[in-house]
Amino acid sequence: MKELVLPLPDEAATVALGAVLAKACDRASVIYLYGDLGAGKTTFSRGFLQALGHPGNVKSPTYTLVEPYELQPLAVYHFDLYRLADPEELEFMGIRDYFAQDAICLVEWPQQGTGVLPEPDLELHLSYQNQGREAKIQAVSAYGSQLLDRIHGPQE
Ligand code: ADP
Ligand code: MG
Repeated sequence: MKELVLPLPDEAATVALGAVLAKACDRASVIYLYGDLGAGKTTFSRGFLQALGHPGNVKSPTYTLVEPYELQPLAVYHFDLYRLADPEELEFMGIRDYFAQDAICLVEWPQQGTGVLPEPDLELHLSYQNQGREAKIQAVSAYGSQLLDRIHGPQE
């Protein structure tokens, strides 16, 4: 499996990583976001969404589970499954419709949706590293591997 490990010394670096990945995504894709509370999953998502033109702040949709953003070139669905009691709840909220759209899905706490969520293209693992964070990005699909190639350049 192809992977990339990047130091994220401060919040701005997490936002910048989100922006770089957003600019690389040119078709429907699924990105799983792993990491403890406060590791930066929503910060990454904010960088991603703002790079595609979302002007405001971004909150984790902890209670609504998903927040849709109609952006160009693709809509982005931002999920936070932290409070999901049972993956079957995802069926009731019509999860398959979200993932069938021509959209980018960012999923915080994907382990809560095991068995119901589709496979990702990329997995981002964020962990605490001294005062900052470390990002490990793993390509899961062939498209995810292309995405990794695209972001590798500007990060070096
Ligand atoms: P999560 O969604 O993973 O629970 P959030 O993004 O909501 O995490 O919160 C992360 C917190 O850590 C925010 O206060 C943010 O400012 C901070 N943060 C994000 N990235 C970094 C980083 N690379 N280094 C230090 N602090 C960071
Ligand atoms: Mg969050």
